[in-house]
This record gives sequence, C-alpha cells and structure tokens, in this order.
Amino acid sequence: MTTEAQEGNFFTSSLDFLVNWGRKNSLWPFPYGTACCAIEFMSTETARYDLSRIGSEYVRFTPRQSDVLLVAGTITYKQAPILKRIYEQMAEPRWVIAMGACACSGGFYDCYCTVPGIDHIIPVDVYIGGCPPRPESFFDAMFDLQKKVEDESFMKERTERLQEQIEALKAKSAQCREELINSKDSACELVSSTLRSKVNSILNANPFKKGR
Ligand code: SF4
Repeated sequence: MTTEAQEGNFFTSSLDFLVNWGRKNSLWPFPYGTACCAIEFMSTETARYDLSRIGSEYVRFTPRQSDVLLVAGTITYKQAPILKRIYEQMAEPRWVIAMGACACSGGFYDCYCTVPGIDHIIPVDVYIGGCPPRPESFFDAMFDLQKKVEDESFMKERTERLQEQIEALKAKSAQCREELINSKDSACELVSSTLRSKVNSILNANPFKKGR
C-alpha cells in the first residue's frame, strides 16, 4: 500500500520563473576593483557579512564565467577600453554594478583623466552611492539586482532577439534584390550598346550599302 507522500506529484510553473530563479540565486561577480571600494567589497566576502547567503560568493576573475561586472573604484580613460572589452567578453545575460562615487560619477576627481561615471562606457544596472559604500549597501544593491532579474522575461528576450534577426535578414534580402536588379539593368545596357555598335560597324562596312 502506498501512502499519499509516495504517490507521484507535479507542480506547474513558467519557464521564465525557473530560469530567473536559477539566475538570481547564482549571480557570480567579476570584481573590477581599482581603488579603495574594492577593499570594501572584499569585506562582503568575509564570514561577518557572508556573500554566500545569496549565492554570490563565487567570485570569478574571468569574464566568461561571470554574470555581474562589479566596478569598484576610479576608472581612467586609459582603462576605459579594457573595461569595455571585459564587459563585451561576458556572456549574456550580464549585469553591471557601479560601486562607489568614483564608479558612479567620477567622484571628487574633476580632472582630464578620470571618466565621470562608467555609464559613459558601459550600461549600468545598479548604482551604489558612498565613498566608500558599506558592505550593507552592496547587499542592498544585490537585492535590487535580484529583483530586476526576477522581472526579466527569458522567453520575451528570445522572441525579441529572433524578431531582430528576422528584420535584419529581410533588410539584407531586400538590399540584395535591389543590387541584383541594378546589376541586371546595367548588364543589359552594356550588351545592347555593344550590339548596337557592332551592327553600326557592320552596316558601315557593308559594300552593298546604298550610296557606295
Ligand atoms: S568612491 Fe571613495 S572609497 Fe571608493 S574608490 Fe572612490 S575615493 Fe575610494
């Protein structure tokens, strides 16, 4: 005899919910730390604050294994292309956190070499104010990011991307058709002008032509 607990059960959900649940509980940060804010981030990893409570303790130092680019510190124009490249090397979906006044707005550096906020280079999802922000602020930012991930639609995203690809293909095929028609017209014109000149030369060379 089987009890109710041993019987087969099922539950219903949406793919969006499952994907987002997995993503939001395993946000792996890539710390791009250039100054004092990075030290503050390090303390979030310690036992006192314990970032593993939200599944983000696994800090990766390769962009291909990370979801969250954490920019902590001052960014100069010399570093800007490197930061952009790292962002582009991260697989989608990816998110960016600007930690501290320097990353958000350039901070107190009002000079020719400092980028006045990393959103001049890459898109930012969450900003953390402060100089430096406390670890609690970092947790707050991670909770905000989790809420953002929760509201994203995996299926909608895929549909939009497919639609974009279809539109691009349509535009390309229309352009190819146009080019083909133009090339056909010019080829016909070339053939007919060649034929016309050949006929004229034959007519001119005809010894039976009237008037010769
Ligand atoms: S915001 Fe303040 S603490 Fe953070 S990197 Fe800039 S100067 Fe340092």
